Amino acid sequence: MGKTTEYEFGGPIGTTINMIVLPLVVVFLYLACPNGESSGFCLRGVDVFQLKHMPIPGLSQLFSLDAFAMCAGWFLFLVFLERILPYKVGQGVELSNGQRLKYRINGHLTFWVSLFVAEHFIDLSILYDKYLELAVAAISLSILLSVYLYLSSFKKGALLAKGGNTGCAPYDFWMGRELNPRVGDFDLKVFCELRPGLIGWMLLNLGMLQKQRQLNNGSVSTSMLLVNAFQGLYVWDALYNEEAVLTTMDVTTDGFGYMLCFGDLAWVPFTYSLPARYLVTHNAGLSDEILLAFALLGMLGFYVFRASNSQKDAFRRDPQSEEVKHLKYLKTERGTSLIVSGWWGLARKINYTGDWFFGLSWSLFTGFGSILTYFYPIYFAALLAHRAWRDDHACSLKYGADWKKFKEMVPYVFFPWLF
Ligand code: NDP
Repeated sequence: MGKTTEYEFGGPIGTTINMIVLPLVVVFLYLACPNGESSGFCLRGVDVFQLKHMPIPGLSQLFSLDAFAMCAGWFLFLVFLERILPYKVGQGVELSNGQRLKYRINGHLTFWVSLFVAEHFIDLSILYDKYLELAVAAISLSILLSVYLYLSSFKKGALLAKGGNTGCAPYDFWMGRELNPRVGDFDLKVFCELRPGLIGWMLLNLGMLQKQRQLNNGSVSTSMLLVNAFQGLYVWDALYNEEAVLTTMDVTTDGFGYMLCFGDLAWVPFTYSLPARYLVTHNAGLSDEILLAFALLGMLGFYVFRASNSQKDAFRRDPQSEEVKHLKYLKTERGTSLIVSGWWGLARKINYTGDWFFGLSWSLFTGFGSILTYFYPIYFAALLAHRAWRDDHACSLKYGADWKKFKEMVPYVFFPWLF
């Protein structure tokens, strides 16, 4: 594999800034909306000037050996389940060396087993009490794992990702040098993409629910139930459709470095669980009718997200299968075909649009008391816009003139007839 010559994410400076700022954002989101006695502080509305009263924690509130042991124990417990639970074998896409890697597909079973163990043997409300220490422990763990991944990528024979091999250490550390780092047949990237952070996020939410129940004499708000149900559905869906991750950009193209490692292990669980954490001590103040309207909007988003992703997945597996053989497509010089009807005829990234609306509903369930609980849809809009741009660039390189033709046939990116 030759050296990477094109930079993304603002090059060495942009990626270094990201590496420093993103963990601080995780801590900031806690401090701007803290737990326990200080929970009354939570940033109200959009008035950011209140932040000058934000409580600043001491080092002992940030770091604890207990929290680190809990995070490491959780990670190892899931490795154990991945190893011992029955599995079917999934195949990855063909790599640049002609190889197709095999994967243990047992994430869905792992989801139910870990949920059962956590619900029956652990008082999950501890996740609320130790939230900040756990977040810092997860960040530390992701940094340690990234250092290991970076160093081990120099071993002989490692297949490097196209994007993380510039020779500039901080940049490559962020992007990830090795495409599919493994220990034996244990695939670190696919494991981290779907298990510790995603299932951990769901347990954090359940911990918030238990805490609210403890504080409110056994009662739980409808908003809390909805946030748990909707985000739980999102996590369950990812694990139920585990094999679909094998064809995503993260797995097929990006190296496994700090960007994905930190994102999977720290960012996803500790920023996406903010709505549930907020609801422990805040009332959304929404009527049942309004909550129902938000739930319907979310379900519509989920339907578009799931139906479009499943349609593409089914088409990629077998274009002649019953469910997709009616679709129109553009046969490309590269050999694969691009769907130009059905969901994918409406807009080129219709799956992102559905995903975003589903995510918006999680924030809407918290009401309008603080801009902080809208962090996810704001950040996610930026992530999806950047991801769409990255994929467009990658596809124009992959498909050349065919991509141009495809874009003429499907002119809209996110919304049919709008843009
Ligand atoms: P896509 O599922 O959109 O995959 C892009 C690839 O699909 C392209 O490179 C191309 O690959 C293929 N493709 C694109 N258009 C067509 C078409 N018309 N017909 C056939 N194949 C096509 O992107 P992602 O992997 O980024 O996302 C997957 C899902 O994960 C999305 O729903 C996204 O919203 C979600 N996601 C969620 C995140 C979160 O934090 N919540 C983060 C990131 C993603 P090729 O032609 O080589 O097959």
